[in-house]
Amino acid sequence: QGSSQSLGSSSNESDIIPVENDIVIRTEKLNKSFGDKQVLKNIDFKVRRREVVALIGPSGSGKSTLIRCLNALEKADSGEIYIQGERLDPNLPVKQLSPMRRELGMVFQNFNLFPHMSVLQNVIEAPLLVRKMSRDQAVALGESLLKKVGLLEKRDAFPNRLSGGQKQRVAIARALAMQPRALLFDEPTSALDPELVGEVLKVMKDLAYEGSTMVVVTHEMQFARDVSDRVVFMSDGSIVEEGDPEELFRAPKERRTQLFLERVL
Ligand code: ADP
Ligand code: MG
Repeated sequence: QGSSQSLGSSSNESDIIPVENDIVIRTEKLNKSFGDKQVLKNIDFKVRRREVVALIGPSGSGKSTLIRCLNALEKADSGEIYIQGERLDPNLPVKQLSPMRRELGMVFQNFNLFPHMSVLQNVIEAPLLVRKMSRDQAVALGESLLKKVGLLEKRDAFPNRLSGGQKQRVAIARALAMQPRALLFDEPTSALDPELVGEVLKVMKDLAYEGSTMVVVTHEMQFARDVSDRVVFMSDGSIVEEGDPEELFRAPKERRTQLFLERVL
């Protein structure tokens, strides 16, 4: 295919941009309003392969909306989204959208585990149904992922028997089970009791060091500073400033970034 690349079967020539093989996610002038409130304003956002991007900013600044647009859970009003170089068209029927959505694994604040399924079932459901893996293969994959997040001994437990930190680690294993190109985390530790935050951050840190591509919406500034490769600061629907974590935290350039960091650090 030379200098262009596509995924899935829905692409046609006009959807394909020249390589930039390295870029997993790219948005171009993304705009989104709810009613008369514009919550995304001309967002140009890029995530490279193996990059860990921390997305920070005040509540209501549009962070969740941005990552929900990336996964077509919300539909932008204008602008473009490319996943692995292929344009994401949120107007496509679900059946055609699904293969692209699967490229990005989501981890939400509230875990969203299936309550009527065991831990292992939660993790292998999608590989079985969507990837059509054999049961043996899926179980082997599921067990290896549960081991990775330190929960193999909970494989037969049901979610209501788990702590919040354990639930979130299962949710991460479940997202990984689809072997996505990137993981999108939306405040994965915000719903946790403080003493459970560390075990989830530890798993995320391991993933980062293994070279996973990750976007992490977070209020954990220490994590952003220590683990991310780049910090993106959003305020009021715009990307106000972005850069190297060390630099951005030490010497933010924009007034709005300074004010935000003064409040949270
Ligand atoms: P953040 O994640 O940075 O806290 P959000 O993306 O959740 O911000 O929200 C940005 C703005 O959009 C907020 O003002 C929020 O109230 C509004 N908003 C988000 N989702 C909806 C929705 N489904 N309907 C109406 N307003 C929404
Ligand atoms: Mg949010």
